[in-house]
Amino acid sequence: MAAGIRVTVWNEGIHEKEMPRCQEIYPLGMGGTIGAYLRQQPGIASVHCSQLDDPEQGLSDEILDNTDVMTWWGHKAHDQVTDENARRVQERVLKGMGLIVLHSGHYSKPFTSLMGTRCNLKWREHGEHGEKERIWVVDPAHPIVEGLPEYIELPNTEMYGEPFGIPQPDQLVFISWFQGGEVFRSGCCWHKEAGRVFYFKPGHESFPIYHNEYVMKVIYNAVKWAAPVRMANGYTQGNYQPLEKLD
Ligand code: ZN
Repeated sequence: MAAGIRVTVWNEGIHEKEMPRCQEIYPLGMGGTIGAYLRQQPGIASVHCSQLDDPEQGLSDEILDNTDVMTWWGHKAHDQVTDENARRVQERVLKGMGLIVLHSGHYSKPFTSLMGTRCNLKWREHGEHGEKERIWVVDPAHPIVEGLPEYIELPNTEMYGEPFGIPQPDQLVFISWFQGGEVFRSGCCWHKEAGRVFYFKPGHESFPIYHNEYVMKVIYNAVKWAAPVRMANGYTQGNYQPLEKLD
């Protein structure tokens, strides 16, 4: 992709308004922080930041037409994303748009519709400081782990635990261990028709997780991995004429 990847960072944007702790950690918002980081990375042509309260929920045709890869963070207002907009995002993915679903986005409409399952999990927010998480690389050959150490350690996080109600990932990239004893498939890849989906667990709103250089590297690597693959003339489906003469 010579011209570079066009990214849309979709962020719900509610905790940033309602939670002083979140504002303190993320003066630019979580979406703004992710966007500012991606803008500085090689191979990124453009970054547009969308929020739930933007016109057309930040998911207009014009925005989608100019998106190769979308990142999605939501938590409090999954049900406010219209079914129609969720369906449009899902359809874009099936046609080739990459989708990186972050943290509590596991319950978002675009993700659950692409997965076809409920995407339930265990969770625990332990006190003010949460608990330690170690995110282990389990696929050292995967492009998403380029430049990472063997594990990423987050001293303060929310626990997400198994069983995670997703279809078996096509590729499992990370498994997390939590101080309380649970484990979780924290980095999962799927091919969905012509598009690619990556789920990545880190990103609870009350901890500075999107200031961790390795977490951000994973998001950047995932954006590159999920960028659309463009065949020379696309492909056809439906009724098809034979290529050889049939008797
Ligand atoms: Zn959370």
